[in-house]
Amino acid sequence: MAEAVSIPSVLSLPSIGPSLAAKLRRLEIADARDLLLHAPLRYEDRRRITPIAASQAGKVLIEGEVVLADIVGKRRPMLVCRLRDGSGVLDLRFFHDYPWLRRRLIPGSRWRCYGEVRTTLHGREMIHPELEPAAQATLGILPIYPSTMGISQRALRRLIEHALRLLEQIPNWLPQLPKACLPAWAPLSLQEALRELHQPSAQDWDGGERCRRRLAWEELLAHRLAFRSQNARAELRAPQLLLDLKLESEFRRRLPYRLTSAQERVIAEISADLAKECPMGRLLQGDVGSGKTVVAALAALSAASCGWQTALMAPTEILAEQHYRLWQAWFAPLGIEVALLTSRQSGSERQATLGSVALGKASVVIGTHALFQKEVRFSRLGLVIVDEQHRFGVDQRLALKAKAQNLTPHYLVMTATPIPRTLAMLRYGDLEVSVLDELPPGRKPVETYVMSEIRRAELIARLKRWLGSGRQAYWVCTLIEESEAWPGEAAEKAAETLRYELPGVRVGLVHGRMKAEVKDQAMAAFKAGEIDLLVATTVIEVGVDVPNAGLMVIENAERLGLAQLHQLRGRVGRGGEQSYCILLYKPPLTGAARQRLDYVRSCHDGLALAEKDLELRGPGEVLGTRQSGALQFKIADLSRDRDLLPEVHRAAEWLEQNAPSVIPNLLAFWLEHGERYAEV
Ligand code: ADP
Ligand code: MG
Repeated sequence: MAEAVSIPSVLSLPSIGPSLAAKLRRLEIADARDLLLHAPLRYEDRRRITPIAASQAGKVLIEGEVVLADIVGKRRPMLVCRLRDGSGVLDLRFFHDYPWLRRRLIPGSRWRCYGEVRTTLHGREMIHPELEPAAQATLGILPIYPSTMGISQRALRRLIEHALRLLEQIPNWLPQLPKACLPAWAPLSLQEALRELHQPSAQDWDGGERCRRRLAWEELLAHRLAFRSQNARAELRAPQLLLDLKLESEFRRRLPYRLTSAQERVIAEISADLAKECPMGRLLQGDVGSGKTVVAALAALSAASCGWQTALMAPTEILAEQHYRLWQAWFAPLGIEVALLTSRQSGSERQATLGSVALGKASVVIGTHALFQKEVRFSRLGLVIVDEQHRFGVDQRLALKAKAQNLTPHYLVMTATPIPRTLAMLRYGDLEVSVLDELPPGRKPVETYVMSEIRRAELIARLKRWLGSGRQAYWVCTLIEESEAWPGEAAEKAAETLRYELPGVRVGLVHGRMKAEVKDQAMAAFKAGEIDLLVATTVIEVGVDVPNAGLMVIENAERLGLAQLHQLRGRVGRGGEQSYCILLYKPPLTGAARQRLDYVRSCHDGLALAEKDLELRGPGEVLGTRQSGALQFKIADLSRDRDLLPEVHRAAEWLEQNAPSVIPNLLAFWLEHGERYAEV
């Protein structure tokens, strides 16, 4: 057995207190490993100082001596600092007075600044440059990291430097692998690759590609290995769940619609699995609105038919409540008890629910992650259904399994995020896949328009008419640049602007950084019609059903992946009426971006869009996947790295046969806690 890796929490690194640790958590950084794997978004080449007189358009690094620093302008004071080097002078311009900075810009002191030079009537200037005292600055390739409010690039770099010092403590777990398992790169160890990622050597720099690919390969390998320790499932035993025909026909008789043939097919696939004595592991993939819920309900009905319980897990409380109301209406007439577990329940209410779950009176238990808490005890758990959740890992599955006592429950995970085949193989390699590839009849595709921001006034007028007629709408904001602190800020600004532009309209706001209760409240108010226009970041709750909201505007749509746009748009196609989606873009639009948006406009097949997305998104356009949450690798990017998969698969097999003892360390390093899908 290889030496176990122990990874220090960020709190153990020098100069990190609880408040910085909390900010780091927003970047999903909790320990030194997360810091090491916090990959730069891009690099800035600061190997050379440019003489002022030689600077042209584009970003340059300049070093000079302060001639003077002063405030100019009365109404809007600006700080202007004149720098001089041997070749000429340059004005640094800041749009506010920063007294602390002004005090440091002492005439004669030397500074290095990095930014865009422009030439004005008064000569060369640089606006809001990055500034460092020349004595402290180093020349080199500078990594630029994804960041968040309150953490500067410099602070991140310093933290990562600390983390890099711990590299020696990480054993080099990979043995020498055969050539066929390795992609073509000069052999870098994990340690070398991580160092190169964060502190690129200034000599013959390759843009960071070599180390990135080396790391991507290992990350994909870890994911692949995690699935493969899976064969054990066949040996596990599960309860046989057979659908009671009388209950079934009673259930179907009450449905206000006929099931689509896709729904019938998938129900048959699931029923066949549930009838077996080995646990089902199935991924149900279906576009938003394809009717996954009723399919899940029939699976739960099979469990209830045989006296087994079902746990239905939703990603948010509001979705859990939505399911609860619906399932209650379906199951109560059949004499099947449905229970809801949320954090909002009062103590006595909760005790009563827990009691009925433990006694087996409640056949279906609906909730969020709260379902995993220790005090939740099932009497006979036979089926676990996870709705719209991608990060449901083995920890959680194991927790539920433990609740199930002897037999392993069957497992069904539902998702509306289209997952291309290459991806499904990697991510859900252990699950069978069912696809709902047909929408219920009468559903009209969302009419989609591509519109330049220049026509905003026109759009606002249209929005006013729409809202004026009593309907509701979404306004979705996207993160524009990494320099913008965080998406919530963009949404807050957008909400403010819209309140001003649309007087009398009730504007609500949700974004990911809000407290869950606040977010849920806003969603609930929107659902109840107390909010007309909901401004949101791309995190708006998946699956929330607001049929009266038939219009969605997506700002900076050119920044998002096709699949993600489709996902967002799916939130409005829910009522029977025609619904609309407007993709706003910031001109000028490149030809490729135009093509992408046009593709979303004309295509309504989520899976086709997802495949196209992988095909079209060239290197560098990594936004989208990271935000969509569909599959979050830390380093790998499937649009760039999917060609590594054959080597990854060979390496996985080779390691299993020749060096199985290194696998646990590899998984521990690369996979999220709770993402180790290795069992069930
Ligand atoms: P999703 O797959 O996004 O979870 P839902 O299960 O919420 O979709 O279904 C979306 C809507 O479609 C619901 O209002 C549901 O009542 C309706 N629906 C589901 N199946 C059918 C069907 N076969 N015919 C008509 N409407 C259906
Ligand atoms: Mg759903």
